[in-house]
Formats: sequence, structure tokens, C-alpha cells
Amino acid sequence: MTLLEDVSLQEFNTLSIPARAAYFAEVVSAADIERILANPALATLPRLVLGGGSNIVLRGDFPGVVLHIALRGIEVEENGTQRLLKVAAGENWDALVRHCLAQGWYGIENLISIPGSAGAAPIQNIGAYGVELADVLVAVSGWDLNTQQWRRLSAEQCQLGYRTSVFKAAMQDRFIITEIELRLSTEAQPNVSYAALNEVLSDSESVTPESVAEAVAAVRASRLPDYRTEPNAGSFFKNPIVSAGRASVLKQQFPQLVTWPMADGRVKLAAAWLVEQCGWKGRRQGEVGIHPRQAIVLVNYGRAKGAEVLALAEAIQHSVAETFGVSLEIEPRLY
Ligand code: FAD
Ligand code: NAP
Repeated sequence: MTLLEDVSLQEFNTLSIPARAAYFAEVVSAADIERILANPALATLPRLVLGGGSNIVLRGDFPGVVLHIALRGIEVEENGTQRLLKVAAGENWDALVRHCLAQGWYGIENLISIPGSAGAAPIQNIGAYGVELADVLVAVSGWDLNTQQWRRLSAEQCQLGYRTSVFKAAMQDRFIITEIELRLSTEAQPNVSYAALNEVLSDSESVTPESVAEAVAAVRASRLPDYRTEPNAGSFFKNPIVSAGRASVLKQQFPQLVTWPMADGRVKLAAAWLVEQCGWKGRRQGEVGIHPRQAIVLVNYGRAKGAEVLALAEAIQHSVAETFGVSLEIEPRLY
């Protein structure tokens, strides 16, 4: 493990914000974590556990130590048709999905093309096209900063919810994930509940996990800006969840409102529709803008700092609140 000082984080966040870290450590073994945390010079400084940097916004230079999780390795255990995987936190998520597909291990094919690391997947219970990590997560292991112990938390203890988990709530900034455990299957159960997938696959004779993955990857590539050429952090706002009563009042006021029922009886509102109705899609404010095809994807068109990105986000939140009385929550973590 090498500890570097005054490191640019621009290449380590997909919004390409040109912030710097006071200290930067590449974590390649679990022992590195204990070593960094035991360093008295770093003990009182803030910490940022960093994976692929695809779900963070850096407000400015980071005055503490960045622990860049670069742990590697995948172990597999067979149990009938089940495949139990132990995946090191630094493995790239998209590469993992593709690896599993190639082996004939199914369950995460709808989550192809999501940037970032395996270790960050439980943080917001990543989801796309009707599948979320919660469908396959068995447990996570890592270092508990409060108890100063290595721990294994079951999926239940992770309290995975809609784009959230215990790691964004009671255990925020308290647990460094070093490994995730997934339960996949050799039996295919393709999920094509989303219309965008159905449209692409409707002419296919048979729908397979491979064809679903191909369709998801193609739809995403055609709809979403590539952060390597148009730096972004994916969806900047979560879809708001409201009570059924509130949704029905809104629907009377705004008959075109796009809504989806949730399993728990509440209703999910399409954040992109709300933002688009307020006229933000495609607009620019200085070096930051809203993508012309994706109303909730904010793009850094130059060398915008975090403050500029957040100023635009706040303006959007303000107009959605004024027009619909709905508050939009920012999805990425702010540092
Ligand atoms: P980072 O941005 O590095 O970190 C995110 C948060 O997790 C931070 O708070 C960080 O401290 C914490 N963290 C990271 N690793 C660890 C660890 N090992 N232990 C403890 N805490 C950790 N998300 C979806 O859910 N669905 C999508 O379809 C989707 N599509 C996206 C498309 C694009 C183009 C982009 C840019 C983002 C998209 N995202 C999506 C968001 C993002 O890719 C995911 O949230 C991803 O899991 C973040 O991984 P990361 O390694 O980049 O996390
Ligand atoms: P889309 O297919 O145009 O759908 C728009 C919104 O409607 C999505 O937010 C989705 O909710 C919801 N939706 C669509 N069909 C649904 C159904 N059958 N049941 C319940 N909800 C439905 O979305 P998109 O923007 O092109 O993105 C496609 C998928 O990739 C979505 O699942 C989205 O979450 C995911 N994605 C996430 C990020 C991120 O950073 N978080 C970035 C890009 C794409 P959900 O968001 O709850 O699925």
C-alpha cells in the first residue's frame, strides 16, 4: 500500500470534477485498511471510501484520506443449480456481470453496463430494468469502523430498499465493504418487465439471459451519455416515492404524470418526467447541463466544479417543488 499526498481525483470520479485529495491510498489487501486506519497522522481526518467514483459529487478538494478500494478476486461455490459467489469489493461490476453470463450464471444480466465497483453495489442497492442487487445479495463482509472489527452482515442486515441501504442510513460512513456474496443460478429466469426491453426483444423467438443482457446494453448505450466523453454521475435524482393518496391527487392535477406502483402500496413518480415538464431537459448553465435525452442526467461539459453542478441541481429541485409540490432527492453522495 502506498500513501500519496495531494492527488487529483478528476480521473477517479465520472463527473470529472477537478478536485484534489489531501491523501490517497490504494487498498489492495484487507490488511491495508487496518494499516491506514492505524496511522496516527490520518486518524482525525475525514475518510472517503472510493470505488469507481460513479455515484459521488465532490463539492471541493477533499481534506482527508481517500481509500481507493482495489481488492480483486472472485470465488465460486457450486450447490446444485446455485452458484454462490464471493466477489472482492474492487472488482468492476460490469465486468463481473459479463463474466457470470459467460459462465452461464444468471440473475444479474439486467444490471449489465452499470459503472462502478462490486463493493459499492449494496450501498444504494443498484437496480435497473426491474432487477436490483437485493434479488441476489446474500451478505457483505468488511471492516466496521465503530467496533473496529471485521464483520459479515447478512442481506437482511443490509436493509436494502429502493436505491438505499443501511449504508446510506444508520451505518453511513461506518462500514468498509471488502467482499460481497451473491447467489446466482444456472437456470435462466429472464426478466423483461420493462417496456424498453420488451420492445427490443418482442421479435425474438426465445428470450435468454444473453439476449436480455445484449438488449439492456444496447438500450443503455443508445439512451445514456457515456461518462468517458460526457462526464456524468448517472441519474442525479431518485424517483420520488409518495403515498397512493398523494399520487392520486397529483394525477388529478397532472393527468399525464408518469407513475409506477410499488410492492408496498406506495407509488413511484418518474423524476425524469417531472424535470422535463419544468423545461430543464437539454438546458445548460455555464459548463454544466441537463442531457438532451435524459432529463435527470447532469453533464459536466467542461471543468465545472462540484458547486456549479450542485447549483444546477438545486435550481431543478426548486422548480419541481414549486410546480408539483414534490421534493427531488439527490442520488449520488456529496463530499
Ligand atoms: P463510488 O461512486 O465510488 O461510491 C459511491 C458511494 O459508495 C460512496 O458513498 C462511497 O463511499 C461508497 N462506497 C464505494 N465503495 C465502497 C466500499 N467498498 N465500502 C463502503 N462504501 C463504499 N446506479 C444504479 O443503481 N442503476 C443504474 O442503472 C446506474 N446507472 C448508471 C449509469 C451511469 C452512466 C453512471 C455514471 C452511474 C450509474 N449508476 C447506476 C450509479 C452508480 O454506477 C452505482 O451507484 C455504482 O454502484 C457506484 O459504484 P462506484 O464504485 O462508482 O461507487
Ligand atoms: P426508462 O426505462 O425510460 O424508465 C423511466 C423510469 O420509469 C425509470 O426510472 C424506471 O424506474 C421507471 N419504470 C420504467 N418501467 C417500469 C416498470 N415496468 N416498472 C417500474 N418502473 C418502471 O428508464 P431509463 O432512464 O432509460 O433507465 C433504464 C433503467 O436503468 C432504469 O431501471 C433506471 O433506474 C436505470 N438507470 C439508473 C441510473 C442511475 O444512476 N441510478 C442511470 C441510468 C439508468 P426505476 O429507475 O426504478 O427502474
